This record gives sequence, C-alpha cells and structure tokens, in this order.
Amino acid sequence: MIPFQLLAQEYETPLYVYDFDAMTKQFETLKEAFRGKKSILAYAVKANSNLSVIKHFASLGSGADCVSIGEVRRALMAGVPAYKILFSGVGKRDDELREAILSDILYINVESEAELGRVEMVASQLDKVARISVRVNPNIDPQTHPYISTGLHDNKFGVDLDSAKRMYIKAKNSQFLDPVGIHFHIGSQLTQLEPIYEAAVIVADLVRSLSAISIDLKFFDMGGGLGVQYDNEVTITPYDYAQAILGALKGLDLTIIGEPGRFLTANAGYFLTKVLYEKKNGSKRFVVVDGGMNDLLRPSLYKAYHRIEAIGKKGEPSACDVVGPVCESGDFLAKGYELPLMEHNDLLVVHSAGAYGFGMGSNYNTRGRSAEVAFEKGEARLIRDRETFEDLVVLETKYL
Ligand SMILES: *Cc1c(COP(=O)(O)O)cnc(C)c1O
Repeated sequence: MIPFQLLAQEYETPLYVYDFDAMTKQFETLKEAFRGKKSILAYAVKANSNLSVIKHFASLGSGADCVSIGEVRRALMAGVPAYKILFSGVGKRDDELREAILSDILYINVESEAELGRVEMVASQLDKVARISVRVNPNIDPQTHPYISTGLHDNKFGVDLDSAKRMYIKAKNSQFLDPVGIHFHIGSQLTQLEPIYEAAVIVADLVRSLSAISIDLKFFDMGGGLGVQYDNEVTITPYDYAQAILGALKGLDLTIIGEPGRFLTANAGYFLTKVLYEKKNGSKRFVVVDGGMNDLLRPSLYKAYHRIEAIGKKGEPSACDVVGPVCESGDFLAKGYELPLMEHNDLLVVHSAGAYGFGMGSNYNTRGRSAEVAFEKGEARLIRDRETFEDLVVLETKYL
C-alpha cells in the first residue's frame, strides 16, 4: 500500500507517484513470456521518460526505444547500453541521425524511402555503416482509439510492403547501410490479439521473401502497444501475446524485440491532486482540483478514462465533473464521475497515470510541472523536483 496521504503532505500536490516494484513486475512478466527465445525488451521511453524510470528498467536488463535524439540521450545517460537502443519515429533530422549513428545504437527504425536516403547520406558523410530496420505498415486495423492507431495506410507511420522490399534491396546494395531488422507497431492500448497476430504474419512473410533474395535479417521488432486495464476492459495476457508472435514466426530464428511502454508503466503510476472546492452551475456539479490538463492530458486529448479514488471519503457518491484550474473547457480529469461530497484539501488519487502522463505535460497557463516520486520497497524518494516559476521564465528573462 502506498501512503498517498503522507506523500501528498511531504511532497505537496499535484504530484506523480510511481510504484517501481509494480514496474519491475510488469517487466519480468513480459520477459518471462518470451523465455527460451532470444529477445530484448526495449522500453518505449516516451511513455514515461523520467531518468530514474529509465534507469530502473535498464537495471532489469531493458533496452530503450526512442523517438527523438533527446530520448536517445536520456537512455544513454540512464545507463542503457547503446547496443540495446533503437531510434524510431516518422521524422528525424539529419543531426539526430548523425548523433544516432555516432552513438552506435542497435539500429534506426526507418519509416520512409526518403528517410532511408537521408540515413545513407548522413552515414556516407561520416564514413560509417548505419544499421537499419524498416517500419512496415501492414494495413491492419488495431481496433483502438483512432489517435493511437498507427498500422493503417491512413496513418503517417511506416511504409507499405512493396516500398519496404525496395528499401531492403537498396540498403543491401549500399556500402553505408546494413539492414538488420524489421519493425511494425500497429497502435497503442491494443486489447485484441488478432490484429497483432495478423500483422506479425504479414511481416514474417516479408522476412521469408527477403531471405529468399539473400537479405537475412537478425531482429524481428514487434513494436509495443500491449493494452492495460484502465477500467474494466479485458486485455491481452503476455503469454498469449508471446504465443501469437512465436506462432507467426514459425521457425524463423530471429531475435525478438519488444517496445513496450504503457504496459510497463501505466498502472504503476498515480497522479495525486487536491480538491480546491466544490461548485455548482445550476444543477451541474463540479469538483475543482489543483491538477489539470497540463499535468495529465489524456482525458482531454483522448477522452481517456482514469479511475479516481477519493482518499478517506465515505459519503454517498453522486455524479460530478472533476476539473482543473486551466482556462479551457477541455480541462478535466473526469466527466460524470461518481464521487462523495468533497471538501477543501481532500485528496484524489488518479490511477493508471504512469504512462503518457507527466511526459505529455506542459507549462500552459504558466503552471510549473509537478514533482515526481518513486516508491520502491516501502520507501519514497523524489526523482524530479517541482518546477518553479524561475524554471519557467529562465529562457526569456534575458530578453527583457
Ligand atoms: C509509442 C511507441 C511504442 C510504445 O507504445 P505503447 O503502446 O506505450 O506500448 C513502441 N514503439 C513505437 C515505435 C512507438 O511509437
């Protein structure tokens, strides 16, 4: 049990608290599902990019999947070995490619023919060989929220099968490119196995047809996307997930790479916020709290559901909107949520806030981002200071 009330007193609110032991458990469970196979789990840093979180996964043997050179730097700084770092993303600048190649990371996930041309150009300027993997878009509907669906031709991610094949041939024939892997990632918060299996089968078939023309890949990168339980959704078990991937690979002897983000951190994170006041507009009830969309954007961005716990309150619940102080009607943590009557300083704990929580935060309305606390083996420690007003204006004051 995490002593939320004590942590809120000691570190104040709004506050993020991460259960590191829960993160360990998720990591080991997923790793275990692929036991006996060559596999690397590369934690998707964007889910929660706090250095201490990355360091924690690195200590468990995790690699890192990064979508900017900033994330690559974070991973290296947190102790992830370069040979377990991947660089994905649909738009990479030349300077990012240069640094990635010089850092000797495992490979770059290339998402277009144009990008492959840039990677080759940058590698040739450095007189280096860039290891690459192509992100294939298998045109599979992952049946998740449209904003987090990435595996359809409608989405900007990856390339179709024909382009992928052309890219592998180009890479094979280039002295500056080494095609080592293949990658797909069809979406996030996936709760159905079938689309993952179908995508894996399509990609595995491409691996076989490449092998037939002497392009032998080493890494089969199944991306991330494993869903978690926010409410009462039924999710995919790691065991079934692994069986589906292994089933699609059928005898192909490749190292399996996973890029789990949400699965590792979502339910290990809590967002603590205090009630400022209750308010009514006509008959509509609002609970105004000190944390808002600049702290936790998911409800505003995706209408995402987060369970909210009113610590120590036992009154009769009734429906309310839990809203933050930001000047936007879209600033809410929950709508139509059943809560007891709240009072000033009551504590609300927003569950499942460990992924795409803090990282999507902003300084909108000149609000400093909250502090972050790790809870591990019964002890709490600060892993990021609360931002001060000075932090927010430091890049501007010299121009006054
Ligand atoms: C975001 C992302 C992930 C992680 O997705 P989750 O749903 O958090 O597991 C993995 N790989 C790539 C390429 C991504 O963009």
